[in-house]
Amino acid sequence: MSDTRPQLKDLTLDALRAHLAKCGDAPWRADQIAAWVYTRGVEDPAAMTDLSADLRARLAADWRWRALEVEAVERSADGTRKARLAAADGEIVEAVLIPEARRTTLCVSTQVGCPLACSFCATGALGFRRNLSTAEIIDQVMRMRELLPEDRQITNVVFMGMGEPLLNLPHVLSAVELLLHPKAFAFAPRRVTVSTAGVVPKIAPLLEAAPVNLAVSLHATTDAVRDVLVPLNRRFPLELLMETLRGLPRLGPRRPIFFEYTLIRNVNDAPEDARRLVRLLRGLPSKVNAIPMNPHPGSPYRPPEPAVAERFLAELASRGVRVTLRRPRGSDIAAACGQLAARASGSRFVKPPLRSAENPAGGV
Ligand code: SAH
Repeated sequence: MSDTRPQLKDLTLDALRAHLAKCGDAPWRADQIAAWVYTRGVEDPAAMTDLSADLRARLAADWRWRALEVEAVERSADGTRKARLAAADGEIVEAVLIPEARRTTLCVSTQVGCPLACSFCATGALGFRRNLSTAEIIDQVMRMRELLPEDRQITNVVFMGMGEPLLNLPHVLSAVELLLHPKAFAFAPRRVTVSTAGVVPKIAPLLEAAPVNLAVSLHATTDAVRDVLVPLNRRFPLELLMETLRGLPRLGPRRPIFFEYTLIRNVNDAPEDARRLVRLLRGLPSKVNAIPMNPHPGSPYRPPEPAVAERFLAELASRGVRVTLRRPRGSDIAAACGQLAARASGSRFVKPPLRSAENPAGGV
């Protein structure tokens, strides 16, 4: 029989406080429980020695304490680690730890598969299976943290794994609340980044609820090309997306929007693309993260020649756009951007919108 008890980590601290009060316990016990679970990584109520034996017994009986178990861990030559994590129903998600000199970034998934079917992304080819619960998002932090040596901590969390965070907003917001809460993980808001392919109506609600960084997966500067790379663009085209971003409150040069731009050979890597990108971003506090396309089996897309990528970056930089070229991390273990596909099966990639003499702008 499957265990139908609720998961403790589905509750925000306020919800846990309210639950305890309802059961006749002191609400501030929630802070003690959070310190054990989120600060110390203890998931067995029997070990929570500052709680009464009676409360410990009820906590053990009423709740499930773990939502994901590590199934496999792969380690890249560059130190990146990717884990396959199994949920109680057998679904698999992937999370990636990226150690750098001064920080360690964890990339978390928000859905099993993804409904957006971006044509260059391995996760998109899986189709959508289901949303992750809050506990399943949080357990990626719990399980991945255990892989780190004592002297290393996760310093940054990016919602850039499998799935579209803004199509699972309630669970993403509860998870963000636990990440930021001083009595739980206590991450500074600027160390948490939520990335979206452009689910326009959910962008303002995200930022109203949580002061996190926003990343937008742009990848193209015309609707013709973006319609093919990010099919969601047909519902929320570029102009609407950019207008929505311009209307966001509380933006400033110290709080830019991050734009992800996957450079794809002969698709979006021309100097004209760079110049159109400059125009799109004009007046918007922004930072562009250009990422050379990470190839994966079944995809027709390739990264540009290094000189072409350099030229693209130089076009942006010379016009005052802040831009960095991201090195692919963990690509040898398929842990790099767009390579997460825990259950890759047949692919359903579309024909790339290559530029040609008849179609100089690319697109189909
Ligand atoms: N759905 C959200 C969260 C995923 S973030 C979003 O789209 O923003 C994952 C990032 O990797 C996105 O910017 C995505 O476009 C990018 N990506 C997908 N496939 C890629 C590939 N093959 N090479 C490089 N980047 C890729």
